[in-house]
Amino acid sequence: MNADPLEIQKFSELAHRWWDPTSEFKPLHEINPLRLEWINARAALSGKKVIDIGCGGGILTESMARKGADATGIDLSDKALKVADLHSLESGVQVRYELIAAEDMAAREAGQYDVVTCMEMLEHVPDPGAIVKAAATLVKPGGHVFFSTINRNPKAYLYAVVGAEYLLRMLPKGTHDYGKFITPSELAQFVRAAGLQVDGLKGMTYNPLTKIYSLNQDTSVNYLLACSRPL
Ligand code: SAH
Repeated sequence: MNADPLEIQKFSELAHRWWDPTSEFKPLHEINPLRLEWINARAALSGKKVIDIGCGGGILTESMARKGADATGIDLSDKALKVADLHSLESGVQVRYELIAAEDMAAREAGQYDVVTCMEMLEHVPDPGAIVKAAATLVKPGGHVFFSTINRNPKAYLYAVVGAEYLLRMLPKGTHDYGKFITPSELAQFVRAAGLQVDGLKGMTYNPLTKIYSLNQDTSVNYLLACSRPL
């Protein structure tokens, strides 16, 4: 299977704190409004059938459902999915969560989604190209696919590993493995090989002094890629 058991375990151990905005998941809470608006501006989520691959505790999934999307979240961490499910019940937002690999979901529900999202997940899997392919299979012709991950270069190592895990201690040590980071051109190659087209690339930066995240043209560390499946 295209999953690293240690990665799944890492997220499962922290899962009970997923919705605590001061926890290890604080960065996901803080970037969520930015990525949600970026996705919504490009894909007009209301009424759309959406699948979120590697949804974890459902921060993005639930927020897309709040925008009116018919949202499904999939992950391989049972604990994270249970937390996601409980949270959606508590907040009264309708979301469907399922423990299933992206590739298996693609075989079962090919071409059924208007929008596919896969955020902060590709850098945790052995074969990210296969996840991109599954995303491309899940989306309808004309539909949108959104990815986010971490670039691979000395600055990304300094900011995403040394800075975030060791200096600022925003993330637990060992959260990210530099060798698994993916450059935008590598991701674009996976995307094109899967039959998708690249529509836009956006950078995301964190200012440790103001503690503010922003979307901009600086793709050197964190970035998002907007794609679509041609009609
Ligand atoms: N996408 C969410 C969570 C990111 S954390 C967000 O951005 O808010 C990374 C998630 O990827 C975790 O929930 C982890 O369990 C999941 N994950 C890691 N490897 C996976 C795999 N091979 N298949 C499915 N999910 C995976």
